Amino acid sequence: MRQTLRPLIAANWKMHGDLSWTSKPSDFAAIYPASERGHLDVLICPPATLLASMNDGVLLGGQDCHAAVSGAHTGDVSAEMLKDAGATYVIIGHSERRARGDTNADVNAKAIAATRAGLIPIICVGETENERDAGQAETVVSDQIRASVPDIEAYVIAYEPVWAIGTGKTATPKDVDDMHNAIRAQVGPTVQLLYGGSVKPANATELLALKNVDGALIGGAGLDMESLAAIARAAPKP
Ligand code: PEP
Repeated sequence: MRQTLRPLIAANWKMHGDLSWTSKPSDFAAIYPASERGHLDVLICPPATLLASMNDGVLLGGQDCHAAVSGAHTGDVSAEMLKDAGATYVIIGHSERRARGDTNADVNAKAIAATRAGLIPIICVGETENERDAGQAETVVSDQIRASVPDIEAYVIAYEPVWAIGTGKTATPKDVDDMHNAIRAQVGPTVQLLYGGSVKPANATELLALKNVDGALIGGAGLDMESLAAIARAAPKP
């Protein structure tokens, strides 16, 4: 039977967008009105510079946060600052942050910070292509979850195979199904599990139909509101 958790469709804009993009939530709402999507949540995580100016129409989130509330951390943003600017979620441990040095311990501390600020952390995990080829994908992901997820009540896991991010390569539905079933067994029935890695309107229906896929974390296709809406429309009603 399919999952019954509320779907979450999340767009990570990464380092894209200027002030003219702050009207995109209302563009999205014009394409896919809120009255038609009461069964799911749509989240946009723009650059921090845009957060406070974003229009209404979708939920908003940050792309990373520092573990401290404030302090001498040049260039960083705290979870409290994201919350103050309108965020309700924050992505933690994206592979692009892990590649720049974030360890599982850092991700764990940031997830605690997110919870402290009243944000829901979206904790990203995923194996590299070499790890998958060596048959270690499930072990790597399960170790990442064990070390990255603190003892908190509310969080989301995003499974993002590193080799599928921004490459146009998508994990097969069987690979995603196997991994999400394994993650479900590890984290229990109430945690939303997102798949990320070259999700597009063309593959969203198949991926979002999988039993333990409760939504998607979307990079490239989330920059365009027509394609984000098409992906959101593909999410089945619980
Ligand atoms: C991502 O950045 O988390 C991502 C999944 O990107 P893309 O959809 O472009 O592969």
